[in-house]
Amino acid sequence: AGRTEGASLEFSIERNPAPASAEVRDAVLADPGFGKHFTDHMVIIDWTVADGWHDARVVPYGPLQVDPSSAVFHYGQEIFEGLKAYRHGGGEVFGFRPERNAQRLQNSAKRLALPELPEELFLESVRQLVQIDEQWVPAAGEGKTLYLRPFMIAFENFLGVRAAQTVRYMVIACPAGSYFSDPTRPVDIWLSQEYSRAGAGGTGAAKCGGNYASSLLPQEEAYANGCEQVLFLDSSENRYLEELGGMNIVLIKSDGTILTPLSDSILPGITRDSVLELCERAGRRIEHRRITIDEWREGVADGSIVEAFACGTAAVISPIGKVKSPDFTIENPAVTADSVSMRIRAELTGIQNGELPDLMGWTQ
Ligand code: PMP
Repeated sequence: AGRTEGASLEFSIERNPAPASAEVRDAVLADPGFGKHFTDHMVIIDWTVADGWHDARVVPYGPLQVDPSSAVFHYGQEIFEGLKAYRHGGGEVFGFRPERNAQRLQNSAKRLALPELPEELFLESVRQLVQIDEQWVPAAGEGKTLYLRPFMIAFENFLGVRAAQTVRYMVIACPAGSYFSDPTRPVDIWLSQEYSRAGAGGTGAAKCGGNYASSLLPQEEAYANGCEQVLFLDSSENRYLEELGGMNIVLIKSDGTILTPLSDSILPGITRDSVLELCERAGRRIEHRRITIDEWREGVADGSIVEAFACGTAAVISPIGKVKSPDFTIENPAVTADSVSMRIRAELTGIQNGELPDLMGWTQ
């Protein structure tokens, strides 16, 4: 149930009677930070076993009244997505490959035994929110965007351990500042040795809250060691690169080859995928395979690995500086404005921001 029906639901719209004033909104847009200030509206679509997807609506942003027995509080049956709306120079607002987020949400839904939201309904939900809160999309040219957070939760008041028969999908939005003002500034990462993010057969490839809950303790360890992100290795041999807490990783060899980890337990990032497609089109060699931490370490030592970066929707592409662990530190070479990773970044952000022609048909 809920697989294909509901694709053409009509959205009802209840306008916020007390939206933020232009002054308040402008103050937020001047310095949005991330994830603190939300727009005036949100989208809700409900699902039940009996009725499938129904009651698609845009309503004023605000708290939910939820029963304490709601399954999401107890068993974490929850998935989410993250994507941005970009204002181009002409004033219009564009999404970047939002259908990929729709498809990834469907894959996450399968793994978490939640109903799949039809792709068209996902896209329409995002369009509806961006349209009604369009004034919250930052102006072009400063790297600011409107971050969209679709999510789906078990919404049944029942403590039995089984897939919920009542589910709620929502979309909220918040303006987001440009993540790092200097894109060449490297981030140091902490190699988690004691904790894994995901295991074979687990939920690593799904975007579910539980994956992030389990990354918080190693993330604290990273902060305590002066690092901004955690690097996870595979859970069985503790040798193969997986990903960071919230970004994928890519290495570049001295001959220009792009290297990136292959694993069933990492999140298939849309940014990484886009990077690989751009590199492929540019005729670069791509090796999407298992990579050990030793290969990285030795490659930097002998000069065969010349760049390393993290990629994701939030920061787009950020160079990795040090990889620290209790036993060793990998000092990746410094990145300059004309390093390969910065050129890829410029191409990708150019397409996203509408400053370069979208030859791949990625924006809509
Ligand atoms: N890995 C993890 C664990 C993430 O949370 C994210 C951010 N969604 C990514 C990778 C990058 O994915 P994307 O490029 O689609 O944002």
